[in-house]
Amino acid sequence: MKQLVVMKFGGTSVGSAERIKDVAAIVHEASEKYRVAVVVSAMSGVTDMLVRAAESAESKNKAAYQRAIEEIRSKHHEAIEALGLSLDESQALISTIEQQLVDLSDWLEGVYMLRELTPKARDLITSFGERLSIHLVAAALKNTNTFSKAVSAASCIVTDESFGDAQPNLAASKTHSEAILRPLIEEGIVPVITGFLGATPKGIISTLGRGGSDYSATIVGYCLDADEVWIWTDVTGVMTADPRIIPGARTIDALSYDEAAELSYFGAKVLHPLTMVPAALKHIPIVIKNTMDSAAPGTRITKKVAIDPRGVKAITSMKGLSLITVQGRVMTGVPGFAARVFGALAAAKISVMFISQASSQYNISLVVRHADGSRANQALRETFQHELTVHNIEMVKLQEELAIIAVVGEGMHGHPGVADNTFSSLGAGDINIIAIAQGSSERNISLVIHETDVPKAVQHIHDVFKLERSTV
Ligand code: ASP
Ligand code: MG
Repeated sequence: MKQLVVMKFGGTSVGSAERIKDVAAIVHEASEKYRVAVVVSAMSGVTDMLVRAAESAESKNKAAYQRAIEEIRSKHHEAIEALGLSLDESQALISTIEQQLVDLSDWLEGVYMLRELTPKARDLITSFGERLSIHLVAAALKNTNTFSKAVSAASCIVTDESFGDAQPNLAASKTHSEAILRPLIEEGIVPVITGFLGATPKGIISTLGRGGSDYSATIVGYCLDADEVWIWTDVTGVMTADPRIIPGARTIDALSYDEAAELSYFGAKVLHPLTMVPAALKHIPIVIKNTMDSAAPGTRITKKVAIDPRGVKAITSMKGLSLITVQGRVMTGVPGFAARVFGALAAAKISVMFISQASSQYNISLVVRHADGSRANQALRETFQHELTVHNIEMVKLQEELAIIAVVGEGMHGHPGVADNTFSSLGAGDINIIAIAQGSSERNISLVIHETDVPKAVQHIHDVFKLERSTV
């Protein structure tokens, strides 16, 4: 039997008629060799437009959300016209899109009337991008004589009710996918499935979080026991560093699931951080491929990879962060202190990206997104109001305009030179390190530095480990 491959195409890959035709050609060619299921994102920019439309409706700006609907309509109409379909097919496609847009404008009107945008309504509204794009891709595929069918993941991915970043129930999703997707695939029909969304057990649409279509692809891969999941994008794969910062950055040919997860968590934009989870459960390889260079091998992500003798595989950076330091003697050996710190932040729904505590327990530092910085600061000041008054805590301090640099590689484990080389390269570049953390997995060293030092820091570390070379 032919191997089963799930192929995911992101927003830029389906961003125009030209790009959609390229996608159709890639899928058509693959479908001769493999059984294929396709997962797609919304056309580029559409999810953002939907978010803005929903927010405009909530703030009673009818003209703004109506303009957004118009923009979305013309983007899809323009693409349909340029897809080169027959008149009948074009008209059928336009009427499908129109029905969806009527539905969308009803929901926006509902938000407008109530003046309330619940997480549920936000998910429903933002899901329209994918619910539109699947029809264009399915039509383009038919045009290459590939049987295809647009499928909403609401019928096959079952999630919990945490709207905005819903998590899949893999067992239930598998049952639904077997029932809905398997028969299509076995009949030689390529399902074109919405990325990003699913539905709760009650059938209410939920989303997996921004950038979640990658995650959708591996969920579908898991549910169908796929042989591989290919993530098609507009870069050649995961790179040793951001090529906009480091001209000599190189595509990495192989990564482990854990390495890929660390890199995406700390700012590599190629993959949603949870993408690796369903794939790792069934050891399904993920391959990152470039639609503009489809013959290139890309990056292959699997359970085990050969250890790079340099110890380090890649460096990522993430800007726009704030560091909060809580400092004082009350912390010394007091059980439950950290629980209070994190409890205060959890209650304020602030997620912490980095934690560091010196062994003296004299201070604890944590990094949050800039947007959460002052709220986090406030929440901690309130929690420790008493201790601050009696000076058992000296200070709660907020520092802004910071960045995290993550140095990642499976080979760091038991490789003593890595930390040394990292720090001395930064020292040589006169770059001040504000805080350091290393997970006990020894797969990642994370450093907090000033935002303005990022290019220089990444360049120095990239150089010291000779990452521009494919082998050493
Ligand atoms: N369309 C969604 C977003 O823009 C999901 C995705 O593209 O992965 O976040
Ligand atoms: Mg993406």
